[in-house]
Amino acid sequence: MTALAGLRSFTRRDQVFKFLISADELEIDTTKGEMLYIEDLSVSFDGFKAIDSLNLYLREGELRCIIGPNGAGKTTLMDIITGKTRPDSGSVYMGQNIDLLEFSESEIAQLGIGRKFQKPTVFEQHTVFENLELAMACNKRVWHTLTARLSAEDIDRIDEILQQAGLIEMKQLPASLLSHGQKQWLEIAMLVMQKPRLLLVDEPVSGMTHQEMEKTSELLNHLAGEHTVVVVEHDIDFVRSIASQVTVLHQGRVLAEGSMEQVQSDPAVIEVYLGE
Ligand code: ADP
Ligand code: MG
Repeated sequence: MTALAGLRSFTRRDQVFKFLISADELEIDTTKGEMLYIEDLSVSFDGFKAIDSLNLYLREGELRCIIGPNGAGKTTLMDIITGKTRPDSGSVYMGQNIDLLEFSESEIAQLGIGRKFQKPTVFEQHTVFENLELAMACNKRVWHTLTARLSAEDIDRIDEILQQAGLIEMKQLPASLLSHGQKQWLEIAMLVMQKPRLLLVDEPVSGMTHQEMEKTSELLNHLAGEHTVVVVEHDIDFVRSIASQVTVLHQGRVLAEGSMEQVQSDPAVIEVYLGE
C-alpha cells in the first residue's frame, strides 16, 4: 500500500480509513473511453436554474473548451464536478465506476481531479523548483517529505514538468519574480505534479500577452492525452487557437458542441453571443 493522497488524510481520522489507496492506484474504469459522465444535472439557487438538465461527456485524454456568456453556468458546473456545490439531481461519474456525488470536495481532489482557479496562487517566497516540490509533498506521506530528500526520480519528474511549462530556466528563481503568465504556468505545473486524471482550468489566459497565450495553448495541448483537460474560457481567439472540441453553455444547458468552426456558424450560438 503506498502513500495516501493528500495531507488532509492525516488530519481527518475518518478519511484515513476511507482512503486505503492513493489516486495513483485508483482504478477508474474508462474502458468505454469516457472519463467523465454528466447526466441530467440540475441545480437551482433560490429557484433560479443555474444548471438545467445538463448532459456532458468527456473522453479520456481529450482537451475540451467550455465557453458561454456570463451566467451560463460554467463556474457552477466546475463547482459541481469538484464537489464544492451539490446538485439537486442528476449524476456525475468519473469513469463508469466512480460516483463523484458520494465524495466530499477534498476527497474528489484526492481522487485525481485538479482545479486551477483564475488567480494564480503560488508560494511567492519559494523558488520555482521548491513550488513543485511542495506540490509533490501534497501527494506523499507527511513524514516522508519532512525527513527524506528528493529521489533522483523525483528531481527528474520536476525538471520534466518545468520543461513542459517553459519554466526550466527560472527553476532557481523565487516565484515572486515571475511574470503573471509564468505564474499561471507554474500553478498548472503544480497541479500536474499531483498527477490528476482530470484537470479543470478556469480562464487561464486572462491578463496574458498574446505570446503567453500561444504558449498556454501549447502547454494545455501537451497535457491532454495523459490528462483529460477542461478549459473554461471567455477569450474566443484563444479557444480557436487551442483547436479542441468546444461546448457552448447557455442558461445551464448545452447549446452547441463541436469544433470552433461548427459552433461559430451555429445560428443559436450567434444569437446568444450577439445578444450579449
Ligand atoms: P458563469 O461562470 O457561466 O458566468 P455561473 O455558474 O457563475 O456562470 O452562474 C450561473 C448563474 O447562477 C448566475 O446567474 C449566477 O448568478 C447564479 N449563481 C451561481 N452561484 C450562485 C450561488 N451560490 N447562489 C446564488 N446564485 C448563484
Ligand atoms: Mg464563471
